Amino acid sequence: YIKKEHILAWLKDCAEIFVEQRDFLTQLDTDIGDADHGLNMNRGFERVAEKIPSIEKQDISTIMKTTGMTLLSSIGGASGPLYGTFYIRAAGVVTGKEKLNLEELVAMLTAGVEGVVSRGRAKIGDKTMCDVWWPVVDAGNAAIKLGLPLEKALELMVQAAEEGVIATIEMQAKKGRASYLGKRSIGHQDPGATSSMMMVQSLQRIVS
Ligand code: ADP
Ligand code: MG
Ligand code: MG
Repeated sequence: YIKKEHILAWLKDCAEIFVEQRDFLTQLDTDIGDADHGLNMNRGFERVAEKIPSIEKQDISTIMKTTGMTLLSSIGGASGPLYGTFYIRAAGVVTGKEKLNLEELVAMLTAGVEGVVSRGRAKIGDKTMCDVWWPVVDAGNAAIKLGLPLEKALELMVQAAEEGVIATIEMQAKKGRASYLGKRSIGHQDPGATSSMMMVQSLQRIVS
């Protein structure tokens, strides 16, 4: 199971990761955007970490929802509303829960990425964060079909996330600022896909 404590530890770990990876993510966004993705993620998750003491007694849904609202209000640009929506919509399918099994985890991430799509209208291969979340969800569903344990499933989901990020390099951006570059966006790793991969890697480390 993924317990509530894991979710809290995950969010705190993400806050640390986005301190460490701030400059790297910002560099990726310098190549094909406006050089702020690391700063955005760092600021957003710093606020989330500050909120944790006041929400740690709540259920997973409330914690995820508060995370989404915090990201929504503290990150500007594209990724604020998108990640905000991801967490808020994810929260919507785990109401009242104190722990999640693999099916519930995958359902939560599926709702999250569906929320991102409902806002941003990304399609497969548009070079966005969705090009990480879709393969992650697919890997999770494949693991469910195979009856794999949660830990093993998370390993496969991390692998899918890492492959998803690599795949964004050769994609031409069709959404967000990077799309203004047209073909010149090809050859660069997508910043949002990269921050999404880091979230998945973090969850796997926390749960294993
Ligand atoms: P901004 O582009 O407003 O400066 P960020 O730099 O924080 O915002 O985030 C950029 C990332 O947002 C991109 O790398 C991409 O992954 C993601 N993104 C942009 N537009 C969309 C969209 N329509 N759907 C999904 N993800 C998107
Ligand atoms: Mg940017
Ligand atoms: Mg910006």
